Parts: sequence; C-alpha cells; structure tokens
Amino acid sequence: MSLPLYDSHNHLQAAPLAADRTAILAELDRQGLVKAVANGTQEQDWPAVLALAQQSPKVIPSFGLHPWYVAQRSTNWQATLLQHLDQIPSGIGEIGLDRWIENYDSPQQEEVFLWQWRLAAKRHLPASIHCLRAWGRLLELLQRESGPRCGFLLHSYGGPVEMISSFVKLGAYFSISGYFAHERKTCQRETFRHVPPDRLLIETDAPDMLPPGKYIEFPLADAASGKALNHPANLRAIYQFVGELLNQPIDTVASRTAENFHRLFAALVK
Ligand SMILES: [Zn+2]
Repeated sequence: MSLPLYDSHNHLQAAPLAADRTAILAELDRQGLVKAVANGTQEQDWPAVLALAQQSPKVIPSFGLHPWYVAQRSTNWQATLLQHLDQIPSGIGEIGLDRWIENYDSPQQEEVFLWQWRLAAKRHLPASIHCLRAWGRLLELLQRESGPRCGFLLHSYGGPVEMISSFVKLGAYFSISGYFAHERKTCQRETFRHVPPDRLLIETDAPDMLPPGKYIEFPLADAASGKALNHPANLRAIYQFVGELLNQPIDTVASRTAENFHRLFAALVK
C-alpha cells in the first residue's frame, strides 16, 4: 500500500538530476507522491523550475534567490523573479540568511532576503527559508516585518529548540530531512520532537541532504563526478525515519503531514 507523500522542499530541477529525471518522476509516481515543492535558488535555474511544473502537475514551483548566490545576481533579478511568479501559481524560495559559507555578505543577503520576504507577504505566498548560523538575526527580521498570512517554511530547521515557539507565533512550519537521521545529528533531530504536530513537514532537499544508508532506498550518483546524490524517492524512507523519531505509526505521520502541507500551500494545491 502506498502512502500519500508530500515533499515540502526539494530541487527537482537541479542539473545533476537531469539525466535521470524521467525515471525519477516515474518512481515518485509509483511511490505515491502527491505534491513536491521544487525550489529555484538563482536566476539560472528558475526556467527549469517553471518547465518542470508545467510538465508535471505534482510539482509546485517556488522561485527565489538563495543567500549563496546573492553576489552573482544580475541587475534584473527582481524583474526576472516577478516574470516567473506571474506565469504560474508559485511559492517564494529558497531564500534566507547564511553565515556559514565563507566570505558571506550579511547586508547584501539581508537586502535580497527582505525584498523577497516582503513580496511573499504582499502576494500571500508561502516562502521557503534557508538559515545557517543566523537564527537570532532571522527571528529579529521576521518579528519586525510581517510575513505571508499563509505561513512560511523553515526548511531543515537547525535552530535552537528555545526559538521554536517564537517562530511558531509568526506562522512558521518546520521541515525535517533525512539528513537528521545521521548519528552526528542526534542532538539537532531532538528539536523536532518539540515542534507542534500541526507545524511539522517532511522534505528530501534532494539531490542534497543525503540520508544515512539505512534510509537510502534509491541509490543515485552524479553521472559526471560519481558523487552520491539524494534520490527524491527516498522520501518514503524519510517518512519512516520521522515515524521512528516521533514514535508514531507512519500512517499518522502521513495524515498529519498531508494536512499541514495543504494548510501551508493551500493557495498552490489545486
Ligand atoms: Zn534546499
């Protein structure tokens, strides 16, 4: 029996998945995927997100400029983003703040993030947020600037447990990926036990965030480099991991995830 599966954050459009994409989409169908949110990260991959969503009704497109790519943005990036958003019902993301990468430029990141955050608020679009080592600053910004009324996603939440309730008040959902199943993530994965059940979502972040071997149902490697990739259809195994973590039957995990997904992405799920 297949469970209805929802992937709240991935990068199905990513170039390393291109060669296998048809097979991947077919496998996702077999696995019971209902919807997956494909997040663009820079101007160069927005057309691929759009094309994928036009081709597959299960793909919800999301367009955003990721903090890793702010330095490369063109002078037209805002107009290009608006053009994509105007073509298809879509979310905003992946956007965010990152003080983990080398040579980060916080003022530029914040300017780009806030412009997109205000756009999400104005258009009532769910936003998908990436944050590394900037949780305090992110909370400060979100408390100052009202967000989209549908809520927003803190993808692969890696912040402190103490901040969960403050983010919840602002409308946050928290997604867990299979990456948290790694032994070294034991402490961080405990935080997800403190997320209110009506705010928890599941993601693969594929082709990134490879889970440990136990949860890799579909091995995949980059054809060019041989590097291991996270196959989007590992999603079902991640549901299993979440069930184990929360001590819940997988059916309960699946029905709650479906409800939460439909609430956050209501404007985009037809
Ligand atoms: Zn991502």
